[in-house]
Amino acid sequence: MYKIKSHVVMTTTEDYIENYVDVPKFLGYCKKCDSYGRNWSCPEFNFDAEGLWKKYKYVYIIGTKIIFDKDMINSIEDKDSVKKQMEEALLREKKVLAEKVWKLEENYPGGISLSAGSCKLCPKCQRQMDKPCIYPDKMRYSIESIGGDVGKTLSKLLGIELQWAKDGKLPEYYTLVSGFLTNSKDVTIEI
Ligand code: SF4
Repeated sequence: MYKIKSHVVMTTTEDYIENYVDVPKFLGYCKKCDSYGRNWSCPEFNFDAEGLWKKYKYVYIIGTKIIFDKDMINSIEDKDSVKKQMEEALLREKKVLAEKVWKLEENYPGGISLSAGSCKLCPKCQRQMDKPCIYPDKMRYSIESIGGDVGKTLSKLLGIELQWAKDGKLPEYYTLVSGFLTNSKDVTIEI
């Protein structure tokens, strides 16, 4: 199977915006994705993405490594099985992470969590039917959807290099990145 290892780092949003946020650049990448304009957690938005960062003083970044067992990596050798294993692990761990970051919102009122990737709460996002989000109290934006550079964040702030499945093999690990925007400097995150 796999094990989980998480790392947390905090910086000011002023530093983060200056060094890690580039809304036009990442909007360009989002436009090439199938979810663009088809999921309420993805661009395009009816608000200023950089303005969302600026509402808060601090950003806590949580990097969660899903570390696959060597036996598991060696036993799976076709692309479809790799994709299935990755999707199952990611979906399961995304749910666990979502519960943790929603809890932060309860414990530190006024803050808002940043989800690991796009919202997957519904089998098909209501945006595709031109209907409003049905869980606006739960849906959250990801770091990348509002212009954050996840790869740079991981490598520079957390010392983790992104890995991907390749040549029909699971990567050694896959990393989910979530976060918490807040005006509180003393947030305790249990990982
Ligand atoms: S909660 Fe459902 S409707 Fe709302 S963004 Fe997520 S998938 Fe879409």
